[in-house]
Amino acid sequence: MTQIALQESRPMTTTPSSVRMSPRVLALPRYETGLTTADVLRRFGLDAAVKLSSNESAEPPLPEVVEAIQAAIPGLNRYPDPAGRLLRTALAERHGLDDDQVTLGNGSCELILLLGHALLDAGTTVVHADPSFAIYPHLALGSGAEAVAVPLDDDGGHDLDAMAAAVDERTRLVVVCNPNNPTGVYRSADALTAFVDALPEDLAVLIDEAYVDFVSEPDSGRMLSLARRRPNVLVTRTFSKAYGLCGLRIGYAVGARDIIQAIDRVRQPFNTNALAQVAAVAALRRSGAIVERARATIQERERVCAALLAAGEAFTSTQTNFILMRAGSGEPGAASSAHELLLRRGVIVRDGAALGCAGHLRVSIGTPDENDRFLAALADVRSLAPEPTTPGLGRVPS
Ligand SMILES: *Cc1c(COP(=O)(O)O)cnc(C)c1O
Repeated sequence: MTQIALQESRPMTTTPSSVRMSPRVLALPRYETGLTTADVLRRFGLDAAVKLSSNESAEPPLPEVVEAIQAAIPGLNRYPDPAGRLLRTALAERHGLDDDQVTLGNGSCELILLLGHALLDAGTTVVHADPSFAIYPHLALGSGAEAVAVPLDDDGGHDLDAMAAAVDERTRLVVVCNPNNPTGVYRSADALTAFVDALPEDLAVLIDEAYVDFVSEPDSGRMLSLARRRPNVLVTRTFSKAYGLCGLRIGYAVGARDIIQAIDRVRQPFNTNALAQVAAVAALRRSGAIVERARATIQERERVCAALLAAGEAFTSTQTNFILMRAGSGEPGAASSAHELLLRRGVIVRDGAALGCAGHLRVSIGTPDENDRFLAALADVRSLAPEPTTPGLGRVPS
């Protein structure tokens, strides 16, 4: 017998690690991902499903974007431009900025996290709304700072007065998600400007404008003008939603030079990849087509809202590419069973419970066909359920 017999194999996953880790990191919530289409097809034995759960664009990238990506593939043996100069310049021109007032991120989520690294320390606070975008609590926990989560107003939008009141001398950052995910509710540029005016000038305010392209109010975009002028205001935007490039991961931040420099200092040099950079430049050149797509999404949003209203459903007033609706009675159980029944019918929406809105469903706007499938499946599910007996939490648009 030789002595080289293999050791008895031990399954790695069952061996608890004795490695000492940061309690700060162990306390971080894990991002709860939604179901993929493949998950749902497998679980329910379906041939097809519509995915209305992640606020994605239902349309594939524009042909010019696909061509730009294809043309860049042979150069992938080289690192990307660490400054993303072509894209920065294109964005700066578009928004009337200098190149050093804009920086790029691997999705705008990266920029939001980087801003946390750049601004926060133990003993400081970050003020954000709740429920709002799931990444904001990570800003505090990742830096040892404290998050001050301010409940939304009754209409599902930011309670700006309460947020201003939550600011104290320890506060380094205030985050405003406008329109808010997961409620879709928009705060006007006037309201936000007054909010910023009332805050100390040395306090950074981040306006997360992931859904700005779907805002049909005439003041949409004015906060970016404010970010050009106010040294403490920063706006993040993304190519993930209206531009339909979430798979590539590319977003940007606009703000004062010193904050942009601070973000550039804490990011890794090659944070945005070569394909994302060229795709975003190509997409910006075709922004007219993107505006058309966003307009079609807004039209569909209005059509779906009208259908929900006619069916007696309650939902928040939305300026995004999604709708937050109350499920049945608004009990958490009603939402999870409606969620499951929709899944069985091949319609994937998000159970609000994972987003801090138990009792609700968040439904993205898709193509007209996809939206029809959602409405039909919902009518089918509703016919199974008893009428709601309690007044709900959702609100109908005025
Ligand atoms: C989708 C979304 C983003 C965008 O994230 P990316 O990292 O750019 O894909 C940012 N903020 C909010 C509120 C969002 O819903």
